[in-house]
This record gives sequence, C-alpha cells and structure tokens, in this order.
Amino acid sequence: MASGRSEFEFIAWMRRHATPHPRVALGIGDDAAILPTEAGKLLVTVDMLMEGVHFTLPPARPADVGRKALAVNLSDIAAMAGRPLAAVLSVALPRTYGKEFARELHRGLLELADEFGVAIAGGDTNSWNGPAVISVTLLGEATERGAVLRSGAVPGDWIMVTGALGGSLGGAHLTFRPRVEEALVLHGRASLHAMIDLSDGLSSDLPHILEESGVGAVLDESAIPISEAARNASDGRPPLDHALGDGEDFELLFTVAPSDGQALLQSPPFALPLTRIGEIVEGGECRLRRDDGTLVPLAATGWSHNF
Ligand code: ADP
Ligand code: MG
Repeated sequence: MASGRSEFEFIAWMRRHATPHPRVALGIGDDAAILPTEAGKLLVTVDMLMEGVHFTLPPARPADVGRKALAVNLSDIAAMAGRPLAAVLSVALPRTYGKEFARELHRGLLELADEFGVAIAGGDTNSWNGPAVISVTLLGEATERGAVLRSGAVPGDWIMVTGALGGSLGGAHLTFRPRVEEALVLHGRASLHAMIDLSDGLSSDLPHILEESGVGAVLDESAIPISEAARNASDGRPPLDHALGDGEDFELLFTVAPSDGQALLQSPPFALPLTRIGEIVEGGECRLRRDDGTLVPLAATGWSHNF
C-alpha cells in the first residue's frame, strides 16, 4: 500500500494549471467532467488500466480486462447519476500476446457495452514491447435532475453506501457491476447532495467529498457494511481495515438529508443493500466513532499512484 499522496497532489497541481474554459461547466476534480451542449449536459470521463498495476494475467483473463476497462468508467458516470452513451478506447498490445488476446479483450468490453447500452464509437490500436494497457473514454449525459457532484454535502447529511465493502482483490475488482441503474433510481427517489464511486477505498474517497464540500464526517465503525471477501481475508488484517482501505469496491457513496435517508431505508428502492454509515459534520475532519463511542481520526489508507 502506498503511503504518499502524489497522485492527488499532482491532480491538484494540474487543476490549478489548467486554464478554465467557458464551454466546460465542471472540469478537473469530480468523477466526470460536464460539458453543456445544446442537447443538454455531456459527461466525460477517462480511465486507464495497466498490466502489473490494475491487473495481472492470470488470474485476470483478457476478457476480464476489457470488461473492467469499461466498467470503471461506467462507475464514474454512475457517480454523477448520469446515463452512459458512447465510448472510445485506446489499447497498447504487447507484440507477443497475439491476435486472440486482442479479440478476447475487446469481446469482454463489447459484452458489457451491450449490457449497458453503450456504443463503442471508436478507438486506437497500438502494439509495443511493453505490457498491456487499455484506456477507455466514456461519454454520458446528465438526467433532467442534473449531475450529482462531490461538492454538495452539508452538515447534518446522512452518509450512505450501496453494497458491502472490502476484499475486492479476491475477485470482485474484475467482476463488479457498475451501479449505473442504482444511481439513477436513487437520483429519482431522493435529493442526492453529493456522490462518489468507491474506487480508491472508503477512507480515501470520502475525503474527496469532504474537501469539495468543505465539511467533515463522522463514520460509525459498527455500521460499515463489510463484504464476505473482507471477512474471509486470510492476511491477518482486520475485516474493517479491508472495508476502509482496499479500494475497487465500485459502490456508491452519497449524502442525503436525514428525511431522504430514512425514506430510502424504509422502502428500499432495489435489492442491493443500502446502509447509513455516518453523518456529515462541520469542519474538515474525517473521524471514526468506535463502538465504545470514542472518536478517532480516520487516516486515508486507500490507494494512491505515487511518483
Ligand atoms: P476517479 O477515481 O473518479 O476516476 P481520479 O482520482 O482519477 O478520479 O481523478 C479525479 C479528477 O482529476 C477527475 O476530474 C480527473 O478527470 C482529474 N484528473 C486526474 N488525472 C488528471 C490529469 N493527469 N490531468 C488532468 N486531470 C486529471
Ligand atoms: Mg470516480
């Protein structure tokens, strides 16, 4: 696990140096960018998967890699409560892997694209003597209710999460289902104040909402839903550590007014579990309420690319 934060420091640097453009409503800093068009608001997001960092072959099969490359982007559109539309992709194929590798990779991607009604609108194919790399750019659209940003959380909000967290390396990081439909249903049923998808781990992704919204949070240790995989992990780390830091859960983390949160829990909008895990508070701190009631700072233990 990386201890530095150079990925996020670098993104902050880039954010300061990129000149604001009048046609870009929301640029660097959220799960997707927002470009207003005459037809509405276009969402744009890109993510790259690199062999040796995001996957290894095996255990991942080529089709898993293609699928995941699109799935992580679908998760970012879900995090804005948007509808996915079309994708373009770039691949760097190792020369020794052969044509069937390329086809399998693309088959995995095409299958998920069909499932979510995403058009594959184009791409770029390259070969080299390095490892396999695939980058997918996904376009989506905001609904009539607008996109949900990271920046709308207010003190008093409930913090809620879909599904169960941790242990994704056991396999879920390749097979997860992006929460696109769930996000749209939630957006229809409640006023979502802020939302992010859990790609780097709860303890790293929640601070993005806190920073963008200018608020703090208290998470209830006993409320955090822990996955079977995290409970069964045999590496000696407590299941809670896995749930807080593993990353690649690709669940939705969002905040709502308590009345909306209560309504969601009273009549669950879908089969996937929904859990209240804490509340938004004043200040900028992220803290964990232990079972005995004591409050401890929550350190970001999730993933960061360091360089
Ligand atoms: P996510 O995990 O949701 O994909 P990231 O942490 O990768 O989000 O990125 C956060 C924000 O920073 C996004 O708005 C993304 O577009 C932007 N970003 C990341 N890397 C760069 C870069 N090298 N140049 C410009 N923007 C970047
Ligand atoms: Mg994201």
